[in-house]
Amino acid sequence: MITNGDVLIEVKDVHKVFGNSLHALNGVSEMIRKGEVVVIVGPSGSGKSTFLRSLNLLEVPSSGSIFFEGTDITSKETNIDMHRQKMGMVFQHFNLFNHLTVLDNMTLAPVHLKLMNKEEARTEALRLLERVGLADKADAFPSQLSGGQKQRVSFAGVMVDDVDILLFDEPLANLDPATGKTAIDLIDRVWKNSRKTVVIVEHRLEDDLYR
Ligand code: ADP
Ligand code: MG
Repeated sequence: MITNGDVLIEVKDVHKVFGNSLHALNGVSEMIRKGEVVVIVGPSGSGKSTFLRSLNLLEVPSSGSIFFEGTDITSKETNIDMHRQKMGMVFQHFNLFNHLTVLDNMTLAPVHLKLMNKEEARTEALRLLERVGLADKADAFPSQLSGGQKQRVSFAGVMVDDVDILLFDEPLANLDPATGKTAIDLIDRVWKNSRKTVVIVEHRLEDDLYR
């Protein structure tokens, strides 16, 4: 039986209009339960990234509301930074800074948000890199990594223990099928070990990888 206590995110009638008339989200309502894996499929331009970015308020809905663990995060009174720490987002283009090493990319946010000091952040980043098999790339720059390796770095960066939900924006885009399979296996392994809630958007289900 599912009770309200199992609901992690509730999206209620969310609209997002860019400019005067570009209706990217048109009254979306959705309930995401704890431990669930949700895959959202739709063509390019259908609003998938806008939806995913709305979940942690990187896009602010034009109307409607979004509840995270029972708190209305669209309310002005909510401290969104506190909730964002519980949401790990892997962007479509990985969002790595090319002028920073892998380790510096990974320690930037936790140090900036004062969640850890520099040394703690380094230790944690190395532990996470170890998990995705990239400890030896800690001092490499993003330009020295393959697409799949860059992706694993961005995966590692969000797989911290206190994150409740992982948001993936087209994790298979630009990956060859074998690397894509590795990526899905990695998400699957994390989900099986932690039962974190996972939301994935994709423009199509490629080669049955998600089945
Ligand atoms: P998808 O991820 O499914 O490809 P998006 O959510 O990126 O789709 O975009 C949905 C629509 O909103 C598209 O028409 C896109 O051009 C538009 N859009 C997205 N972000 C912005 C923005 N920051 N400003 C204006 N239009 C945007
Ligand atoms: Mg997109």
